[in-house]
Amino acid sequence: MEKASEEEERCGRLALALAACTLLAVLLHAALKVALDGVRRRRARASLLVVGAGPVGLAAALVAVRSGKVLKLTLLDARCRAALLGRPQQIALDARSLGFLRALGVDFDNLEGCWRGARFYTKIGVFQEHLLSVLEQSRRQLELDIRLGTKFTDDFVRKIAASEWPKIIVVADGSCGESSSVLGISSDYLVESCNAYGANAALERPDQRQVPTPEIQAHNLYFDLSAYGVDISSSGKESLGLQQAATRPGFHLKIYGTFRNRYMALACPASDSKVVRFLRHTLNSSIMKNIFHQSFNAYKTDIEPRMNDLTRHHLQCSRRLFEIMLSHRKVTAAFIEGDNVVVTIEGEAARMLNFDTGCGVNFGLRGLESSEEFIYRIATAVDQNDIFEALSAKIRHSKQVAEDFRQNGIFATVFE
Ligand SMILES: Cc1cc2nc3c(=O)[nH]c(=O)nc-3n(C[C@H](O)[C@H](O)[C@H](O)COP(=O)(O)OP(=O)(O)OC[C@H]3O[C@@H](n4cnc5c(N)ncnc54)[C@H](O)[C@@H]3O)c2cc1C
Repeated sequence: MEKASEEEERCGRLALALAACTLLAVLLHAALKVALDGVRRRRARASLLVVGAGPVGLAAALVAVRSGKVLKLTLLDARCRAALLGRPQQIALDARSLGFLRALGVDFDNLEGCWRGARFYTKIGVFQEHLLSVLEQSRRQLELDIRLGTKFTDDFVRKIAASEWPKIIVVADGSCGESSSVLGISSDYLVESCNAYGANAALERPDQRQVPTPEIQAHNLYFDLSAYGVDISSSGKESLGLQQAATRPGFHLKIYGTFRNRYMALACPASDSKVVRFLRHTLNSSIMKNIFHQSFNAYKTDIEPRMNDLTRHHLQCSRRLFEIMLSHRKVTAAFIEGDNVVVTIEGEAARMLNFDTGCGVNFGLRGLESSEEFIYRIATAVDQNDIFEALSAKIRHSKQVAEDFRQNGIFATVFE
């Protein structure tokens, strides 16, 4: 009896030891796998091509550097360096874009421009020059190939040797770019209303200085159009011109750009009020010109010249109020099978408005907020499943950016 129980005890101990050994082996295997996977992920690198060295393409290149997952970075732009850095338009960067760019190494203390509140105003060429210089400093971290004056074409694609194909291509070639078609990606757009109406004007004055200038905003403007036969009896105001409505919401005006290239954006929430209906359907194009003329003189800075009948011909503007529409690409990220390349489309190449808010660059930068994670996921992907998951996350983010702008963008950039 005693012998039998001793035998049982021995068997039990043996089974326990066997189970412990198996568990240890499984744990060791799992730990080794995690460690090897960690090493693989740490070492994983992709090569990346950015098409377009506009503000968005340059920022995308800096995101690629920061990801630490890019071995070779190529940046192409059809424009030569002088044309790229001489772009005179002003851009306004909001607080969110400033935070995003600072994290990429952009130093606003060393950038020509001016501040008003939480916004920074500079010229697009100056901004691009700074981003390019920050990028050039990353040569120690990765292989960098900047080719200005080089267009991305069928011919360029044909000349890339199969072994040199970049794993990731970021297309940021602006509103007129055709690079995605070169890659066989559909250029179909969805066009959706932003539930607002607007009109734009531009005033070019070669006698003025091209210095960054803060924007001016005026809200709840009401235009008295009785001189054009629009019944304004409900307002009780007789004079022609513009007034600030104390109670009901009216138009929102923004004056921006440098003193030389002054731009104006006039917008209002979509409504069917008499004035809105009249301005949307009038055939008399001088009415809109009068509105911009008077608005400019009423709200311009004190130090810039008034617009008068002699200078008015420099003013170009929309003929009537139009519905503000957002066009965004149906395909913003794709996988090119065979070449094993993923493509994302960013900036104005991906989404743009038919209305200039003066904050277009910020909208373009929002799409890049998911790019670092995307580059990491593609560089460390083990199989196509990982690639497709990364692509769907990028596409979801891109759709979210467009939807957020459609819901709140006009409000945040013009109405506030
Ligand atoms: C007159 C004007 C005034 C503006 N004012 C303002 C403002 O006040 N505030 C504001 O925020 N925004 C303003 N904008 C908008 C702003 O310029 C854009 O939002 C911004 O430039 C978009 O950046 P992006 O990098 O997407 O495209 P882009 O700046 O258009 O850059 C695209 C680049 O791709 C290059 N490219 C195109 N095709 C190819 C190819 N096949 N191969 C290689 N390279 C190619 C182009 O040469 C270009 O350099 C203004 C725009 C204009 C035209």
